[in-house]
Amino acid sequence: MLREAEVVVLGAGVVGLTLARLLWKRGRKVLVVAEALGEASRVPVALVNPLRGRRFTLAEEGERALEAALGFYSRFVPLHLGVFRPVPEKDRPKVAERLASLKHRWEGGGVVLEEAFWLEPRPLLERLAQGLPFLRGRVLAWEPPYLRLEGGGRVRGEVLVYAGGGRGAHLLALEGRHIPGLVLTLLDYFPRALSYRVYLAGAALGGSYLPGEKGYRLPPPTEGEVDWLLRGAEALLGYRPQVASAWRGVRFRLGAPHLFPVEGGWALTGFGSTGFLHAPLLAERLAARF
Ligand SMILES: Cc1cc2nc3c(=O)[nH]c(=O)nc-3n(C[C@H](O)[C@H](O)[C@H](O)COP(=O)(O)OP(=O)(O)OC[C@H]3O[C@@H](n4cnc5c(N)ncnc54)[C@H](O)[C@@H]3O)c2cc1C
Repeated sequence: MLREAEVVVLGAGVVGLTLARLLWKRGRKVLVVAEALGEASRVPVALVNPLRGRRFTLAEEGERALEAALGFYSRFVPLHLGVFRPVPEKDRPKVAERLASLKHRWEGGGVVLEEAFWLEPRPLLERLAQGLPFLRGRVLAWEPPYLRLEGGGRVRGEVLVYAGGGRGAHLLALEGRHIPGLVLTLLDYFPRALSYRVYLAGAALGGSYLPGEKGYRLPPPTEGEVDWLLRGAEALLGYRPQVASAWRGVRFRLGAPHLFPVEGGWALTGFGSTGFLHAPLLAERLAARF
């Protein structure tokens, strides 16, 4: 069996589907090949927030990425606007300076990023995939202009795009960090996201406690990790929320750039914790090259 397309996208996570959708809209003959609809992108809730971590660093091209993300995702799923970030007093002058051009307001010991938001990735992936040419299968080898599939089939693309996240990184021998994260789903619901060390949004409590690793694997949740998340939530809420279930995922982080040429085409990957923030901006940039 051989299927062909102008652009073959390996990966149906937020990155691959966003790119495929944009190419499809531009009238390109595109084919998505993936084992499943999302891997890391199946995280129960994703924050799209350009102000990162405990050091309040501004994500690379954060403002532009946020604008592109707002415009793109709002066509597919509801966006829950407003992310509250508690800011220790000593950090406030620094944060105020960094936020100069981002819409925000100060409120009770922190800052509300008015255009940052959270969304539910699973319905997003479903809607992004709707109507797109999609071949479900496992890719065993990247052999431009072909992808070789489990079961003996092949797919041919004039251009191949790698958007296979951490799970497929071995196909191109991409060396990055695989950082396990845990999300607990809760009985409580938080309409507005809040984030400091851990994040709470919708019915999810998430964060990364375990160190990064060289290879991809999905370690089971550890007790220390669950306790660390609950302590983080308690610091934000004043009580420990009740847990309904746990979801494990692995972030894949490469040093910049995240869009780069590879044999036979392009790779768009390695976003670490900002895949949902950066996917629309960089996918748009790549789509414009075809
Ligand atoms: C716990 C946790 C919380 C997170 N929270 C956030 C957040 O709040 N905000 C945010 O922006 N980001 C967050 N992230 C990061 C975000 O999930 C990722 O950056 C993003 O999902 C990466 O998307 P992707 O499309 O590159 O990869 P993935 O979603 O991993 O998709 C990879 C795709 O490639 C396919 N694939 C891989 N290998 C093969 C193969 N050999 N054959 C066939 N198909 C293959 C898979 O089936 C899948 O379709 C979080 C991650 C974790 C783990």
